[in-house]
Amino acid sequence: MANYPYQITTELFQIPHEDTFLLYSPLKRVAFRVNEATIDLLVRIQRQEELPQTPSVQKTLTFFEEIGILNGEPDQRPAHAAPPGSEFRPTTVTLFLTSECNLGCVYCYANAGVQKLFLSWDIAKAAIDWVIENARATEKDKILLDFHGGGEPTLCWDVLTRSVEYAEAETQKYGLKLDVSLASNVMINHKQAQWIVEHVHSMTVSMDGMQDIQDLQRPTVAGNGSFERVVSILKFFDTHDFNYGIRATITHYNVERMTEMVEFFAATFKATQWNFEPMFAAGRALVTGSPEPFEEVFIREFRRARERAKELGRNLAYSGNMIERISNTFCGAPGKNFSITPDGYISACHEVNKATDPKANLFIYGEYDPEKKTFVIHTDKLDRLRTFTVDQVEYCDGCFAKWHCAGDCVVKVVKTTGDYHKRTSEYRCQMNRELTKDRILELANHRIMVSLEEDDVFLLNPTAAQVHQLVEQGYPREAIIDEMCSFYPEMSRDVIEADVGEILADLAEIGMLSDISTL
Ligand code: SF4
Ligand code: SF4
Repeated sequence: MANYPYQITTELFQIPHEDTFLLYSPLKRVAFRVNEATIDLLVRIQRQEELPQTPSVQKTLTFFEEIGILNGEPDQRPAHAAPPGSEFRPTTVTLFLTSECNLGCVYCYANAGVQKLFLSWDIAKAAIDWVIENARATEKDKILLDFHGGGEPTLCWDVLTRSVEYAEAETQKYGLKLDVSLASNVMINHKQAQWIVEHVHSMTVSMDGMQDIQDLQRPTVAGNGSFERVVSILKFFDTHDFNYGIRATITHYNVERMTEMVEFFAATFKATQWNFEPMFAAGRALVTGSPEPFEEVFIREFRRARERAKELGRNLAYSGNMIERISNTFCGAPGKNFSITPDGYISACHEVNKATDPKANLFIYGEYDPEKKTFVIHTDKLDRLRTFTVDQVEYCDGCFAKWHCAGDCVVKVVKTTGDYHKRTSEYRCQMNRELTKDRILELANHRIMVSLEEDDVFLLNPTAAQVHQLVEQGYPREAIIDEMCSFYPEMSRDVIEADVGEILADLAEIGMLSDISTL
């Protein structure tokens, strides 16, 4: 129809939920529940058919226009941070310091400890020098120095401390900021913990919960328990108000104890950020036969645990349902990660941390040249990695989770399905979709609301809905502003503060809040 007045201006997903539907636009960050009549209305708009001229249809159309799904700005699709052919100038480096480990976790993806490789100081220094040089050349104001995987970084203590202290001195010399992050099992002593408190800015501690689980799943190489040492170090961190998060691996053994784990963590430690990740059968798990959790059981138990965490004022996260992430890559593996293996190679992936890894051919894209003391980058391999984006995967095309899950962890998809682009099987998809839908529902539950004072229906815009939800959860005004700032990092705090003030006043005016002066 010529001059048809309505155009759908966003990628809109229709998700069946109970006896209604969820309508979800990830790129406009809008979600709401609708009935079949609303779906029918949208289908008519798509077909450019004449619409009924009733007040409720008009009100719905106005609402759709207000939230930008009708006649709005076109979607901004997430851009690739490092498209093929672009210059490679990383300002973040991850050092895999060693393949050695003091624990013998039953599911270790790296089968750590079999090979005993340690990163040399020369290579660590060259990597730090290069990211500093890149930051200066590209006018960035900071670098990130990260220590991770393949083994326990604190077992290479000399290179760890020397790298950080060198990076501190060099960044200071050039007026750059430095962020230091560390992933560790914290089988360390209090002197080492003190050094970490003084030099590391954020830390992820691997711990699987109560003593029976921790000691079973994460024993020392000698077969003893690790629980008591880990608890002692985390309590040390707590007394120093040190910033760390806990990452727990969920196996068939502890999947039904996730709620208990949440209660244990809340009662024992100050950490407020916890990640529960389902075990993936690789490395040592293939030898020990440690079983993965069933997907349906993980979904059911994660839901219970997350609710309990919310009641306790904590946040329980899972990497596959992060609706805050709008991206076409799940992580930095598609051509952004600059990670140095203990044997001096450059890897794009935390799980591919030595040249002998079966997936090295795909993820290792360069090496250290000891004569020139620089890194050699194989751009053909780097550019191949850069094609691992969700918009290149036909399988993910119609999936409502695609801009959050972003095609999921590249290496696990490759190990499970053989080919990132031509995948046919659903690695983790059920978990990711179900748990993403939960997060969307948390937003959508508040889209359409009845006023307490008038016999009318109010349609809250997404921001107002989020603010109202946080008020209901008992957040004070400052905490609401903090949450909104983390959800909309592109907006300034002043603007968000003003918006929150207006929304609270509006909600009070229509009778949805009784007294905003106490917030
Ligand atoms: S591909 Fe998976 S394991 Fe590798 S860096 Fe990305 S998220 Fe981590
Ligand atoms: S849930 Fe599955 S289909 Fe959906 S984006 Fe993730 S990997 Fe792709």
